[in-house]
Amino acid sequence: MSDNWLQYIPGDPTFQPSHEQAEKARSLLASYVPDADEVSVAFTETIEFFDPGANWSGVTCPACGADAEPWWLEAMDAASHEGFSNLFVTAQCCGKRVSLNELHYNWPCAFGRFALQAMNPNVRELTPAQESALAETVGHGLRKVWMHL
Ligand SMILES: [Zn+2]
Repeated sequence: MSDNWLQYIPGDPTFQPSHEQAEKARSLLASYVPDADEVSVAFTETIEFFDPGANWSGVTCPACGADAEPWWLEAMDAASHEGFSNLFVTAQCCGKRVSLNELHYNWPCAFGRFALQAMNPNVRELTPAQESALAETVGHGLRKVWMHL
């Protein structure tokens, strides 16, 4: 049995909404995906990486376009030891300073301390209007990460 998670993460990895905003956003998302198994919010102390699970399709360097996967794992490992408080790394392909949050993930990923998530939402996508309403409720632009487990 596999599960699909629709997750919305603030574009600024440090951003957290108030608990009231989060609850409003949770009810709003629940109203958009009434057939979901579960709709929840997650607050974390430190920044976490929201990966797409089995949807992972590799990563390339935004500065030079090279495949970044050869150095990405090591860079992620080092950054995770600091709770992802510093996302800037030196790209080993071209030596440029790049943010792990701005690499070109072929399947979207995100870093954050807050997530709005729906398990098995049973929709293909929300409409742009629904996504704007969620962002407005959370109080920040959101990145979408479809995670398949
Ligand atoms: Zn590069």
